[in-house]
Amino acid sequence: MDKDSTVLLEIQDIHKEYDKKEVLKGVSLDLHKGEVLVVLGPSGCGKSTLLRCLNGLEKIQSGDIKFKNESLTQKNMDWKDIRLKIGMVFQNYELFPHMSVIENILLGPLKVQKREKAEALAQAEELLTRVGLLDRKDSYPRQLSGGQKQRIAIVRALCMNPEIILFDEVTASLDPEVVREVLDVILGLAKQGMTMVIVTHEMGFAHSVADRIVFMDEGTICETSKPDEFFKNPKTERAQHFLNILQY
Ligand code: ADP
Ligand code: MG
Repeated sequence: MDKDSTVLLEIQDIHKEYDKKEVLKGVSLDLHKGEVLVVLGPSGCGKSTLLRCLNGLEKIQSGDIKFKNESLTQKNMDWKDIRLKIGMVFQNYELFPHMSVIENILLGPLKVQKREKAEALAQAEELLTRVGLLDRKDSYPRQLSGGQKQRIAIVRALCMNPEIILFDEVTASLDPEVVREVLDVILGLAKQGMTMVIVTHEMGFAHSVADRIVFMDEGTICETSKPDEFFKNPKTERAQHFLNILQY
């Protein structure tokens, strides 16, 4: 591995069921500092569930998740604290409609992290500049395009200074012409060394951004490969089939 060898997240044989239906059937995975992991797989295979388990939005039935060697499955786990370190961006932005862009972004830094307003504001404005949206800081979500809302949602996650960011199909509900502007922001983060787990259906993007591709099907990881290897020569029949259907 040419990235930092520090392991930030260790996922060990996790099992997750909903109403007795097992949707994660023993998933194990390591995430290294600075690594970009892209999770691919057919709809319903458990990708979102996996990400949601990583920041405590879902409870696992067995197995363990460790963040910097600390188990996240212990009793009395403070998930609020972990979510500051493991941020997540969703398909549907989840911005508060009654709050302006800057209020949405500063909510976590001021209310949860209790930071100084001037300092947090300076960071928020710098991040907004980076994604080309500083002039929209007083707009409300309804006044923004989907691509703009999603870039704001990414800024909101970044403004908490997380150590890892999880992206769950963040371009899936965007119009095709604005998908690129969001993907470019994520590519920029990858270049800066942000540690990320990305679920996406954008194969070209997956190929270019990933350090490793994790292919899932029916609640298990079928293969983990370098992107060139995965896209040119997938090891499993299921991955071949998946790529054939997408004609990538
Ligand atoms: P993916 O993100 O890969 O499309 P999901 O993780 O969303 O897959 O879903 C995996 C499986 O778990 C699917 O069969 C889905 O129907 C089921 N599932 C997801 N969330 C819930 C839930 N809250 N309650 C019951 N079943 C769920
Ligand atoms: Mg999903």
